[in-house]
Amino acid sequence: MARSTAPASAATAAPDAPVAPPAPLAPLSTASQGRRVETADVIVVGAGPAGASAAYHLAVLGLDVVVLERQELGRDKVCGDGLTPSAVRELVRMGVDTSSWQRNTGLRVVGGGHLLHVPWPETPTLPSYGLARRRAELDRDLAEHAAKAGARLLTGVSVTAPVTTRSGRVVGVEARPSARAAHPCLTSPTTVTAPVVIDAGGVSARLATAAGRLRDSARPLGVAVRAYFRSPRADDAWMESRLELWDGPPGRSDLLPGYGWLWPVGDGLVNVGLGSVSSRSSSRLSSGAGSRAGARIDYKAVFGRWMAAVPPSWGLTPDNQVGRLASAALPMAFNRKPHYAEGLMLLGDAGGMVSPFNGEGIAQALMSGRLAAESVAQASARSTAAGREQALAQYPLALRAELGGYYTLGRVFVSLIEHPEVMRLCTRHGLGRKHLMRLVTKLLSDGWERRGGDAADHLIQTLTRMVPAA
Ligand SMILES: Cc1cc2nc3c(=O)[nH]c(=O)nc-3n(C[C@H](O)[C@H](O)[C@H](O)COP(=O)(O)OP(=O)(O)OC[C@H]3O[C@@H](n4cnc5c(N)ncnc54)[C@H](O)[C@@H]3O)c2cc1C
Repeated sequence: MARSTAPASAATAAPDAPVAPPAPLAPLSTASQGRRVETADVIVVGAGPAGASAAYHLAVLGLDVVVLERQELGRDKVCGDGLTPSAVRELVRMGVDTSSWQRNTGLRVVGGGHLLHVPWPETPTLPSYGLARRRAELDRDLAEHAAKAGARLLTGVSVTAPVTTRSGRVVGVEARPSARAAHPCLTSPTTVTAPVVIDAGGVSARLATAAGRLRDSARPLGVAVRAYFRSPRADDAWMESRLELWDGPPGRSDLLPGYGWLWPVGDGLVNVGLGSVSSRSSSRLSSGAGSRAGARIDYKAVFGRWMAAVPPSWGLTPDNQVGRLASAALPMAFNRKPHYAEGLMLLGDAGGMVSPFNGEGIAQALMSGRLAAESVAQASARSTAAGREQALAQYPLALRAELGGYYTLGRVFVSLIEHPEVMRLCTRHGLGRKHLMRLVTKLLSDGWERRGGDAADHLIQTLTRMVPAA
């Protein structure tokens, strides 16, 4: 790291703050005494889409940003790899070259005896295409993009705890090399300090949790599973969603709230998976097994039944499966807040930003990085501590303006589709109505205009204003 002050005592760990108030540091824990101490303007924990986006925008805005990522670049991440137009819009804002990535033209929806093609519409703010990119590649590309813009990217480095002042303000992190090869700049336990710390560490939100920001179990939580398959349809131009997830024998059991997907990612592969959601999170969901009305859900079994209904043209045979079926949780509808307080910002999954409408979180992760960077840069231009705090507090307000009302509607949506009979009505009767489906697709994919737009956009704008922001 370029800006080392190592080795240092606790006294020198006080941040040389261009951004936040220079609060006195509490003595560091015994374990920290005598450690190396590094400083930066901003620390970003995690180099997934949220962390990479924040790091890129911060670096472009001229801030000294250190990104600490516990894994090596090119690590796998359990995901559907789908990028809707709202994610593409963020990638365009970051100037990422996506010319070689797999493109798609819209959604093909199958369910209740219907087959519907809904192309992504070109709108004033959104492109008319989506993308798919395996996360091993997407995350590597984004992290390298941030590093090229000037972010100091340190991989193989785990953040183990926040460093706080006596009053509880987060002013840094404790970091150590991960089990794998660490970055040569951080080969021993190190304290990194900065006036602003960003938790972009994903669903585990380790830093936020350690700082006392816990998950709100009254907000929805999803679970999703996915596997890769070699497929003759790996270059299909549509993202296919198949809605009927049965929790027992097809047609004779309940429909689960969720959908299965077949998303071509190129290179001969299709990402195949399914996700389901519960309006309240609970321990039953967190380990990869979910529950509705108290009954445990065996996702592997649901996946098997769902796959049996997929046409053979996709080639989903055991021989074609690449790697294992893996699962992970989807933290939804701002289930961890506040998104900024006391020197600590939460981005992406760490802030529970997955959409309760469709289970996607990459667009929101990228957006949160951009909005956070904007607030931090504005704070750095303020001359008083109070002014800097006010500027940092713009970040949660900006998030709320973008997604607050929308996510409140999403919570209502989840509590409705949790009823199997509602899910059944939607798939049987909703899919048959093309105009309704265009509106629904805008709503479900966050493809609606916040200002202006067509009648469908106006309707969604009105609905999101009628409800309290999440
Ligand atoms: C099965 C499944 C399918 C999905 N499909 C889609 C989809 O198709 N489209 C979509 O938009 N969304 C999808 N999602 C959601 C999406 O994966 C997440 O919303 C997205 O990854 C959030 O990005 P993030 O940067 O916040 O977190 P992550 O991508 O989880 O990145 C967090 C990073 O932080 C690092 N980290 C964590 N803790 C530490 C630490 N202590 N120290 C240092 N580094 C740390 C991790 O190694 C990781 O690299 C899916 C999720 C699942 C589970």
